[in-house]
Amino acid sequence: MEKKTKIVCTIGPASWDKEVMRQMIEAGMNCARVNGAFADPLELDKVRELVRSISDDVSLMVDVKGPEIRLNKFENAKQIKPGDEIIIGNNDQSEIYPANYENVYTYLKPGQRMVIGDGDVELKLERIEGDKMYTSVVYGEVLKPGKALNLPGADYSSDVLTLKDQENLKHAIKTGWDFVSPSFINSKQSAQTIKDFIVQNGGDGKMKIIAKIEDQEGIDNIDEILEIVHGVMIARGGLGIELGLENVPHAQRVLTMKCNEAGKPVITATQMLDSMIENPRPTRAEASDVATAVLLGTDAVMLSAESSAGEYPVEAVKFLTSTVKVAEENLCPFIIDSRAMYQTTTDALTKAAAEVCIDPDEEIDTVIVVSRSGATARLLARHSIKQPIYLFTSSDYYKRVSLLTKNIVKAFVFEGISQHTDDYTRDNAVKIVMKRVKEEGLVSPGQKVLFIGNIPIDSQNFFPNLFEIIKVE
Ligand code: PGA
Ligand code: MN
Repeated sequence: MEKKTKIVCTIGPASWDKEVMRQMIEAGMNCARVNGAFADPLELDKVRELVRSISDDVSLMVDVKGPEIRLNKFENAKQIKPGDEIIIGNNDQSEIYPANYENVYTYLKPGQRMVIGDGDVELKLERIEGDKMYTSVVYGEVLKPGKALNLPGADYSSDVLTLKDQENLKHAIKTGWDFVSPSFINSKQSAQTIKDFIVQNGGDGKMKIIAKIEDQEGIDNIDEILEIVHGVMIARGGLGIELGLENVPHAQRVLTMKCNEAGKPVITATQMLDSMIENPRPTRAEASDVATAVLLGTDAVMLSAESSAGEYPVEAVKFLTSTVKVAEENLCPFIIDSRAMYQTTTDALTKAAAEVCIDPDEEIDTVIVVSRSGATARLLARHSIKQPIYLFTSSDYYKRVSLLTKNIVKAFVFEGISQHTDDYTRDNAVKIVMKRVKEEGLVSPGQKVLFIGNIPIDSQNFFPNLFEIIKVE
């Protein structure tokens, strides 16, 4: 049985090699994410071409940093100890400088705390000379390149999209990237700003938003954020710094539940297999973290430096795949009772479908959904069912977007019959779909398939017109 939980991999030097990328995809990677703090349009093109040369199913996600500041990728990690002086400049004239944010020093005063990365290093700003910040190490052992520079309490301009973000995002829209994941989305307005930008730049209906929730405000406003965006990333890096580590597990639970209820995909991110950056095997705690994310109801798990800069990117994906599979096998089926956020009729129908799937007397083996945008499949997938969902949808874009949702195991573009001819009957359409899944080896004679959805495939109908159980011949 194929895995149902999806895997997002951050792409970087460790995964730029074609053979490595091929192995990661074969091992179960579903989405390639590029960190916009360092990437430029050229790198976006490189990653897109690399992924597309191997797979049409793997989606592309451009991550934009907004107010999240990143240090540059300076040459070598630095061994440090408390009291050491670290100089942070303003641009590439200095060895260390904020890579995606200019003139940040103008917003800071001596005494400012600077928390690096996920909190393993803290610096204190001692003084500013010219455009250079002279800091001292408060704690930490290694200052690594490319890490986040968090400035607790600082009042710097926190644009949702920096100029660099805008450049990357425009390019990503033009070249067919499927998702944007903006950082620090914490209000309806910040989500709307991204949406407006996408619309203004011709990306409406071509790019979905995955909002990174990184602070308490984002948690408090999750309902109104979910009204605007396609899905959510639980940015445990940001959350750990903003909330304190002890509060991250609960935040993760709340956000996962909110997204499941709304019927929107959720990605659990950051430090999932952190020790695998340097080791071929993860820790027991990491294995448990991955399984727990699945049991809580996540749609996807994510790799950060494990796949972008680590030594074992392929092994990390393999480990995620084997771990999520065991968790899925042990997941008890259940129905989510509350209403999804939209499409009441489809919601009711998919809930009924989930009930049929869970009923042991029905003995359903597989669910097939025919849906123009995939929304029907996503609503069904919010419930925890054992059966795999196979989706037939209307475009490559909808196929890839839907494959970020758990339980939608395979997706196809519906083709083989034109909806504008007389033979476009419901029965013919069903036959074509059944033939395809048989050819793909996804169903076998004697099995029972629950068939739901909307035909013709381009129908804008709200009420799905298919709901039947078919025995495979
Ligand atoms: P990042 O976001 O890896 O882009 O910082 C995720 C997080 O904050 O957890
Ligand atoms: Mn972050």
